[in-house]
Amino acid sequence: MTGDGIDSTARLGPAERAANFERLGQGTFDIVVIGGGVVGAGAALDAVTRGLSVALIEARDLASGTSSRSSKLFHGGLRYLEMFEFGLVREALRERELMLTKICPHLAKPVSFLYPLSKPVIERPYVGAGLIMYDSMGGARSVPRHKHLTKAAALRLVPGLRRDALIGGIKYYDGQVDDARHTMTVARTAAAYGAVVRTSTQVIGFLKESDRVSGVRVRDVETGQETDVKAKVVINSTGVWTDEIQRLSGGRGRFKVRASKGVHLVVARDRITSESGIILKTEKSVLFVIPWKSHWIIGTTDTDWNLDLAHPAATRADIEYILEHVNKVLAVPLTHDDIEGVYAGLRPLLAGESEQSSKLSREHAVARVAPGLIAIAGGKYTTYRVMGADAVDAAAEDLPGRINPSCTDEVPLVGAHGYPALVNQADRLAAQHGVHPYRIRHLLDRYGAEIHELLAPAADDKELLQPIPGAPDYLRAEALYAVTHEGALHVEDVLARRTRISIEYAHRGTESMQCVADIMASVLGWTAAQAAREVEAYQARVDAERRSQTEPDDMSAEKVRLEAPDVRDLATSPVA
Ligand SMILES: Cc1cc2nc3c(=O)[nH]c(=O)nc-3n(C[C@H](O)[C@H](O)[C@H](O)COP(=O)(O)OP(=O)(O)OC[C@H]3O[C@@H](n4cnc5c(N)ncnc54)[C@H](O)[C@@H]3O)c2cc1C
Repeated sequence: MTGDGIDSTARLGPAERAANFERLGQGTFDIVVIGGGVVGAGAALDAVTRGLSVALIEARDLASGTSSRSSKLFHGGLRYLEMFEFGLVREALRERELMLTKICPHLAKPVSFLYPLSKPVIERPYVGAGLIMYDSMGGARSVPRHKHLTKAAALRLVPGLRRDALIGGIKYYDGQVDDARHTMTVARTAAAYGAVVRTSTQVIGFLKESDRVSGVRVRDVETGQETDVKAKVVINSTGVWTDEIQRLSGGRGRFKVRASKGVHLVVARDRITSESGIILKTEKSVLFVIPWKSHWIIGTTDTDWNLDLAHPAATRADIEYILEHVNKVLAVPLTHDDIEGVYAGLRPLLAGESEQSSKLSREHAVARVAPGLIAIAGGKYTTYRVMGADAVDAAAEDLPGRINPSCTDEVPLVGAHGYPALVNQADRLAAQHGVHPYRIRHLLDRYGAEIHELLAPAADDKELLQPIPGAPDYLRAEALYAVTHEGALHVEDVLARRTRISIEYAHRGTESMQCVADIMASVLGWTAAQAAREVEAYQARVDAERRSQTEPDDMSAEKVRLEAPDVRDLATSPVA
């Protein structure tokens, strides 16, 4: 227990997994949340910290949907100002500030962007006025204010820009986060407060009492075991799967969600000489070049997607679109050979407002679609906490008595406690654990106060302080901790989400998978054949993704991508 009174050691390990399946089948939960993306995790944390009993059910892995595939920005959304969405921007900026200062300062960090100006006279006052608003909306701020730069100063900040690509610039700040780690940490925090969090557990049906939803039927997609989970209210927070779950419930939805694909490229940091991220206006939207440790993340695209929701595939055309746009401003153009990682995600957009998704507002919708069933969708990563609170507020109608107000603006995530002090003590921690101070700082930004728990097993096994083969940024102890504490069940979970090895190294994790499988096998009791199957499945996934990225269009890319077997092969898709 910490001074906060939560069980900070709350593990999502194999023992808890077994116990949690039993807990799902017992009693009646106040709220069952479907979907372990950031919105579902946020709703579960919101509900449990109001004093309600909660289960969070995720079909695959935490953040395995859109919430590991975003641009990873906690941002107000500069371009929504142009759409006069002032309320939305204000709310998002308030959330950005909360994340950076109180809720997860170990995970969320300020990041600067250069807005290169290319049009004489009007562009500077126009963008500058927007940034004055951006800097003053949303309350107190921990990031520096924007700054106007001459052409020479802008080029000093971003020497990698073509000299004729700008006539000046403005530097401003936003926040960034490793989305998959953050979502997992929100879910773990919910577990620390008592929520039952279960991954690889798919909702396959609804329980009803007359016209009222009274729970869900779930299947463990690892074992095929099924059980009924009774609930006073069910929250459908499944992002792009919202309509599918709505169909499964047998009722009509109050809104529809459609998917828009966004692709990002990951290139090594030395490919673009810059001290700052860059934001570029495109004909449809904006393109970001975002600093990401020793890499840049560049994206994104925005195209309709009507195919497989679990495995959106990037095409050659997506990659070329991004290269073409970023190369317009780079002094040394990027080529296909510079690309180390590629990922594609699906925006859950509220349908019907406009056919052009980049013009759609990122506002969310919440509705009581049937007695005992709430749906929440749309919005954006940054506002997940508000969305979670809105969903639980809507659930109140189906709960007896008055429920407490949301308090998640006062609830730091697991690892946040004492983070600034730990950073100040990095040298001492380094000596204590026998790890370089640089490494300690890196770990603190991923685990915060959990660093002691993470490194404890290394006291008896120094091998755990060795880097994962092919991924010098990550220690073997991190792969172990992913399984013992963070709910990782497959090699893919560790390489793609608990770490980001799958997008940060040109081998995409294939040089690391055997070591990770061996570490996981020791905890999960895999046989040699099971470990070999995991490695084969991961290799097949990487091969299929690579091949799909050479295909010209979505249909052909998806066909190639789906040739790789799914490690969660019992997860039915679509479920309705
Ligand atoms: C390319 C791109 C860039 C973006 N960049 C940003 C950004 O920088 N900043 C920002 O604020 N927002 C950004 N967004 C938006 C943001 O990522 C999403 O709004 C957010 O992640 C959606 O989260 P979610 O929980 O609604 O959905 P998801 O993360 O998709 O979660 C839904 C979950 O439901 C689960 N599920 C589905 N069916 C079942 C079932 N039957 N049983 C159990 N579980 C089920 C799925 O497995 C999935 O994990 C971006 C989005 C995209 C696509």
